[in-house]
Amino acid sequence: MKKEEFIKELKTLGINITEQQQNLLEEYAFFLLEYNKHTNLTAIKTLEEIYLKHFYDSLTLTKMVSFKDEKILDIGTGAGFPGMVIAILYPKTNVYLLDSNHKKIDFLNKLIEKLHLNNVTTIYDRAENYVKKNRELFDIVATRAVAELRILLELSIPALRVGGYFLGMKSKLEEELESAQDTITILNSKIYNKIEFQLPKENGKRTIIQIRKEMKTKKEYPREYRVILKKILKN
Ligand code: SAM
Repeated sequence: MKKEEFIKELKTLGINITEQQQNLLEEYAFFLLEYNKHTNLTAIKTLEEIYLKHFYDSLTLTKMVSFKDEKILDIGTGAGFPGMVIAILYPKTNVYLLDSNHKKIDFLNKLIEKLHLNNVTTIYDRAENYVKKNRELFDIVATRAVAELRILLELSIPALRVGGYFLGMKSKLEEELESAQDTITILNSKIYNKIEFQLPKENGKRTIIQIRKEMKTKKEYPREYRVILKKILKN
């Protein structure tokens, strides 16, 4: 997707991007392409793919929520998707980008400095460790392509305030949703919305699930990562 097509497609999402934001994204894309030559950050290697599969795809989250000034945690952000793109388009949000890979956090720190962003914080940690200490804090936890849904929910729901939303960007949702049913109930949360759509141009199937936190989470969650992996929460 060329930059011009990207801008046009954003209009259909109801997003009017400023020239300054266009420039920030362009700088982001070039820096990512350059950095990716020596440090493996993403499998996506062309400018047009970055516009479609990273930038546009990240912004499809606006199909679920209207971003304003929320405090957002992006778990397993990698090279900044979806959190960094949301931060650029919605400068009043407060975005926390978390990843356990230091190469990715180094890249993000350099990028934040380069783009002079003051609404983004990076966290170099494993989600299960960070969330144990940072509970009931975030309005939104967003994740793309990190782990199976039930695992992500146990890592994410404790970090949300009551009434906050988990947004999971998934390519294979149905199966994962089935095995996440009890996790959703045990963590006092509820499916709020679920959408399926296709990316423009190459028509890749995408789904986003939105889950609302209904009540505070018990201190025992998240469990240790190896326990989360082994023992599915059951009613
Ligand atoms: N969200 C990005 C995207 O869609 O382009 C990156 C996806 S990448 C496949 C998954 C990322 O999640 C990796 O950068 C990995 O280091 C991170 N990750 C996986 N499990 C994690 C955990 N428990 N805590 C923190 N980061 C984790």
